[in-house]
Amino acid sequence: MSELVQTTCPYCGVGCGVLATAVGQPVSISGDPRHPANLGRLCSKGAALADTLTHEGRLLRPRLHGRDTSWPVALQTVADNFGRVINEFGPDAVAFYVSGQLLTEDYYVANKLMKGFIGSANIDTNSRLCMSSAVAAHNRAFGEDVVPVSYEDLDDADLIVLVGSNAAWCHPVLYQRIVQAKRRRPQVKIVVVDPRKTPTAETADLHLPLKSGSDVALFNGLLSYLQRHGAEDRAFIQAHTNGSSHALTVAHNTAGDTAAVSRLCRLQPSDIEEFYRLYASTPRVITLFSQGVNQSSSGTDKANSIINCHLLTGRIGKPGAGPFSVTGQPNAMGGREVGGLATTLAAHMALDVARHREIVQCFWKSPRIATSPGYKAIDLFEAMYIGRVKAIWIVGTNPVVSMPNANRVRTALDRCEFVVVSDCMEKTDTTAHAHVLLPATAWGEKDGTVTNSERRISRQRSFANPPGESRPDWWMFCEVGKRMGFPEAFDFGSPREIFSEHARLSAAGNGGSRAFDIGGLSDLSCDAYDALLPTRWPIRAVGPPVAEPFAGGRFFHEDGRARFVSTVLRQPRHTVDEEYPLVLNTGRIRDQWHTMTRTGQSARLMAHAPEPFIDMHAQDALLSGVRSGELVAATTRWGSMIARLRTSGEIARGSIFIPMHWNSLFAGDARVGALVNPAADPISGEPEFKHTPVRVSPYVVAWQGFALSRTALVIRDATAWSMAPAPDCLRYELAGRRVFGNWSPWARRMLNAEFVDADWIEYVDRGIGIYRAALIIGDRIEACVFLSPRPDLPSRTWLAGLFAKPTLEKVDRIGLLTGGAIDAGADAGETVCSCFGVGRNTICTSIKDACLTTTDEIGKQLRAGTNCGSCLPELRAMLKANLCLEAQSARLDVAAAAI
Ligand code: SF4
Repeated sequence: MSELVQTTCPYCGVGCGVLATAVGQPVSISGDPRHPANLGRLCSKGAALADTLTHEGRLLRPRLHGRDTSWPVALQTVADNFGRVINEFGPDAVAFYVSGQLLTEDYYVANKLMKGFIGSANIDTNSRLCMSSAVAAHNRAFGEDVVPVSYEDLDDADLIVLVGSNAAWCHPVLYQRIVQAKRRRPQVKIVVVDPRKTPTAETADLHLPLKSGSDVALFNGLLSYLQRHGAEDRAFIQAHTNGSSHALTVAHNTAGDTAAVSRLCRLQPSDIEEFYRLYASTPRVITLFSQGVNQSSSGTDKANSIINCHLLTGRIGKPGAGPFSVTGQPNAMGGREVGGLATTLAAHMALDVARHREIVQCFWKSPRIATSPGYKAIDLFEAMYIGRVKAIWIVGTNPVVSMPNANRVRTALDRCEFVVVSDCMEKTDTTAHAHVLLPATAWGEKDGTVTNSERRISRQRSFANPPGESRPDWWMFCEVGKRMGFPEAFDFGSPREIFSEHARLSAAGNGGSRAFDIGGLSDLSCDAYDALLPTRWPIRAVGPPVAEPFAGGRFFHEDGRARFVSTVLRQPRHTVDEEYPLVLNTGRIRDQWHTMTRTGQSARLMAHAPEPFIDMHAQDALLSGVRSGELVAATTRWGSMIARLRTSGEIARGSIFIPMHWNSLFAGDARVGALVNPAADPISGEPEFKHTPVRVSPYVVAWQGFALSRTALVIRDATAWSMAPAPDCLRYELAGRRVFGNWSPWARRMLNAEFVDADWIEYVDRGIGIYRAALIIGDRIEACVFLSPRPDLPSRTWLAGLFAKPTLEKVDRIGLLTGGAIDAGADAGETVCSCFGVGRNTICTSIKDACLTTTDEIGKQLRAGTNCGSCLPELRAMLKANLCLEAQSARLDVAAAAI
């Protein structure tokens, strides 16, 4: 019988439990029914985790200046160079840039080395990019970075307000939990506040498509409304808070009536009134917020304006109520607990509190301790650009793709004297700049803990052997720490030993003054650590157990009271003008995660959106002179990129949406980070990913096309390209400006047909510029290419399906030349359900032919939507579109009858 390993998904902050079958090949993955975060459910990304467990592309040995080297040489080189720079320029000339992917134990030793032994706070993390505004808001309001809501609270809430959160795609299992709660109790109301009509908004009772960036006005207006309509909890405010009067005065003055809010947010007054009425009359309210709130130059104020409403109504620290910041990464929360941000210390202690510094330094027995904040992410790369930071160690993240103003980040790395990158992948946009490359273990090989969005600590367990010479990140930091002269402080033999020290530090000098206390886990034996069940903090060693930190109205400012923070609507740092008339909004898509280094390896995940795209309103497209389906260029003051245009009613006029994922391995020119402005929130330092002025213009090419091939191709003469793995081939989208008199030699060269004994079939229509060719070895298709002056090319799905066939039939060969399936039903269309590979055409045909009206009926007929549920919002949209069409045709029939 196979051994089952209980571990945790490495993607988003929901932190789903995963069961991995380690024995036998291939590894199978399923949701852990006993994990309280997901109760057995996984989204499309989690369900496809086994696809990413390949060793292809892995970094297997340490490298020094591009050549393999030994671990001792690599580690000594890192220690020597960091030591040299520190001696010459001081501790603030070196930095670590780490990741919410790291396990808590990795994070702990990295932070200990930088803040306690190097003596600088120059350790920041890619979590700065996704949730540091929430951290700053929590600290301002509560006196500590505490998330006061659990997933179970979502089952109890009567009103769930999702602000700047496309949870249906970004936190799918949590979203499904909300949908289930509403199914069980239809009286539950869902309000979505988002400029885009996302799949999450599709299912909302009320969608408020507010003007991008105007959240503070909406929640100031709510604060004012709540007070004016007697919904405040005076006893709670009086006993447990400070600052309500000033916050209310500001709210009344800036957003004191619906008309003002309507003007500032560009919302219908009736929708605003409905939302405010619902909120005022529902005691159990959860306001779930995410990157749409945080990633803004006023993200901290936005989060505080949300928290203010919960404080005013006393809806916090109680079942089914509270402000709920949901994190994007699997261990952003663990990073916060160990102090992995340049602005925090360790165990939720503060750099600017002398007593906290004393506790930490004493506990670590360290020679020094950082006394002031280090560089936040944007400032860090800027400091490197101007030569202040001279040595950096980047761990498990890809800033050349993910940072704003990413081209400048790339130049900063080029200018940096000494760059170390530890990663599990050999080739990323960032590893290309490393002087020293350190091979890290990946998910499935790592061992430690992570904390999810609801403060639940879970074990991530290994179930596979690390390939080559890859090593855990904690081990690398310890080895470098020892070589820098601190052998005792970094003499850890296992993640358990690190976790134990982390737990002890959380209790040191605490005595209830800090909510983060896991002292009860300090003395876990090896077996107990191995068997640790998912558990929410605090877990104190002494005193009665505390279930919810704010129960009873106790907060963590010195006086035990929460603070209202007065917030004022501020304009984004950069506003639109004639040259850049639209607003660029970036974010995630359903089946990809971060910079695609992992999810990009999965053919089924790539099938949902195989090439980079730009979403735009049809009227804006018209004004910009661009058309849906064509390639366009998006340009800002900071950079440009090329992608396929999609017009839809999902996006409000005046803005465009571009996914954050594509890197240089998957597309020639589609790193959206290069376009994003480097403005950041002045308090949290979180970048403004949701608001960059942008222009969209036609990207003129002479030809467009695609190639499918069993083996990787060397792209020739294409000025724009993207690549996506499909189940049995690689798919390349191509476009170019060079005009060819004869395509044949070019195609033969690119498809590697010149030197093989194979059939070569081709079709040329010189009159309209169409070219098709296929390489067939034996009876199997090996590669094909289709070119046209226009983007209306044959279905890639049907052609990719031919690669699964051991023998091509005659109709397939005819189809190759005619450019489409002879049997219309053979083309399933673009994938909608990744779990069962069900395509759009198949679903549409079934909806029509079998008169399907619900997602359950689609599930019964096609299985689509019956596994992870991530595609359910799209299935609902397709059903809705069909109903609209039917209604339209019924109206036409009636009209025709009347005539
Ligand atoms: Fe992983 Fe999906 Fe769960 Fe997030 S919701 S943790 S991506 S399975």
